[in-house]
Amino acid sequence: MTVVTPASEAQREAWRSGGFPEAERVRPGLWSIPVPLPAIPLRYVLVYALELPDGVAIVDAGWNTDEAYGALAAGLGTAGYEMTDVKAVLVTHIHPDHYGLAGRIREVSGAWIGLHPADSRLLHDRYDDDAVDDLVAQERALLVRSGVPRATLDELAGASMMIRHYVTMAKPDRLIEDGDRLGLPGWDLQAIWTPGHSPGHLCFVERERRLLFSGDHVLAKITPIVAVHPQSAPNPLADYLDALAAVRKFDVDEVLPAHEYRFLELAERVDHVMAHHEERLAEIEAAVAAAGGITCWDTATALTWSRPWETIPSFMRRAANNETLAHLVWLEARDRLRRVPGEPDLWYPA
Ligand SMILES: [Zn+2]
Ligand SMILES: [Zn+2]
Repeated sequence: MTVVTPASEAQREAWRSGGFPEAERVRPGLWSIPVPLPAIPLRYVLVYALELPDGVAIVDAGWNTDEAYGALAAGLGTAGYEMTDVKAVLVTHIHPDHYGLAGRIREVSGAWIGLHPADSRLLHDRYDDDAVDDLVAQERALLVRSGVPRATLDELAGASMMIRHYVTMAKPDRLIEDGDRLGLPGWDLQAIWTPGHSPGHLCFVERERRLLFSGDHVLAKITPIVAVHPQSAPNPLADYLDALAAVRKFDVDEVLPAHEYRFLELAERVDHVMAHHEERLAEIEAAVAAAGGITCWDTATALTWSRPWETIPSFMRRAANNETLAHLVWLEARDRLRRVPGEPDLWYPA
């Protein structure tokens, strides 16, 4: 159900029809540039280019593929710039669709890369070859405690490893903290730390132009994955809901997200996403109450998903499990459920 008004009919139509929107001007000096993603349903990331006196700053970068690089270069061309004109890459978070291309852009342009410290800390374990086996082992242990059947364990534990090829490992040049002013000439841009989807997720508010660059934190129709995993905070859903409340108070005219399309009503959309999680929490609490001693995995399979469980690919079933775990942990922290630790953990009504 859509509760928001698209700010760009062209983008909304492209999203609905499975097409690919053109780069377009959002405001004087501000551009939205769709950059294609390989083989995932999101299809593209929306990169924003902010004109500066001597070039552009961009919010997010895209995956590291030649196709993405070409699309970004073409989009900057529409705005009258070249890749070498990029002065800054503000990365909302370290997922490959946002951060993957940042290092390559810096190589050709000398741009600085900015990232929140909580995401910067995760880079080594996530993307360096010598560390990644460790991460897979931790993920496996988490899945064992979730009660994932032995037969599917290996498949699920390594499920997203192919994604790493779409990232060039690039350390940030600047760490951006909550409340930091970016100091880009002509822009009143302030960073808002919005953890949950990723521990160091950032939104950027532009008060003068009444805009919110929302990354994956608030999107027009879909809700971002908020999951417990080896690199997450202990209670990521609590962080996420707090961070939703933190952006809700901004009086902006338009939300500029990283996927789907631009839209108008921030507060309404935030309320809708909060209500979605309330419903999910109630559904999970009821499933645990009905079973009285159930694993996270069995809880996940008992929930309603957008398609039948058997048809969900393995990396998405893992996400579904870890997302369910985030809700279980939230309910545990509120004393609405209790956990009996083991292999697997079993969940009971409090
Ligand atoms: Zn993301
Ligand atoms: Zn994303």
